[in-house]
Amino acid sequence: MTLPVGGQNFLVVGDGSLALDPLSGNGIFYAIGSGLAAGPVINSLINRPQDGELALEFYRARIEQVFTGGCRSAREFYAAEQRWPDEPFWHVRRHWPPAVSPADPLPKPVEFGKKPVVKNGFIAREDVIVTADYPRGVWQVDGVPLVRLLDMIRADDGGGIFPGATAAQTATARKWLLSQNIID
Ligand SMILES: Cc1cc2nc3c(=O)[nH]c(=O)nc-3n(C[C@H](O)[C@H](O)[C@H](O)COP(=O)(O)OP(=O)(O)OC[C@H]3O[C@@H](n4cnc5c(N)ncnc54)[C@H](O)[C@@H]3O)c2cc1C
Repeated sequence: MTLPVGGQNFLVVGDGSLALDPLSGNGIFYAIGSGLAAGPVINSLINRPQDGELALEFYRARIEQVFTGGCRSAREFYAAEQRWPDEPFWHVRRHWPPAVSPADPLPKPVEFGKKPVVKNGFIAREDVIVTADYPRGVWQVDGVPLVRLLDMIRADDGGGIFPGATAAQTATARKWLLSQNIID
């Protein structure tokens, strides 16, 4: 599979993969972030070619999410301009990308699914929890896989330390589940 962001023998990083509005002042941060994400993707493309498409899917979703998030924050910057909001330059920028309708219904419930994540330096498909804030899914918090922890909590009726994790790690992961109203 070849995508605009990469293929079996190439990967586009930094400004080449996404160039945000300079107003954000975050170009270097995003360039380094994409470089860090590229490591396990390249490792998978070279050493686990059978997972190559999965790795590219992971990379593309990451780039798309970062780009969309960057464009949304730029829109807020432009919307702060008060003198010429209806002039063509400002008008276009303060309305793109379109905001989510304020009349939108209740927040989406969390979803469970399998998505590509970084695991031991490779891209692998794991059970994740997808929320509105984390559309690419969260696999683990503080080293504790959330879906397996949730299964354990439901089976044990609450108690227990996750196998292989410390009490503090388990507590941190539980707190995340609590913060998302997945457990109470
Ligand atoms: C005027 C300006 C101000 C900015 N201010 C900020 C700021 O305040 N904060 C911030 O975070 N970001 C800022 N940015 C954005 C930031 O500079 C970029 O997002 C960041 O440098 C991207 O890093 P990169 O490694 O992807 O690309 P680059 O830094 O552009 O590196 C690409 C390198 O590849 C080299 N190259 C190109 N073609 C070839 C080739 N064929 N063979 C070999 N080498 C090649 C180039 O010479 C260059 O050295 C600014 C950008 C500009 C233009």
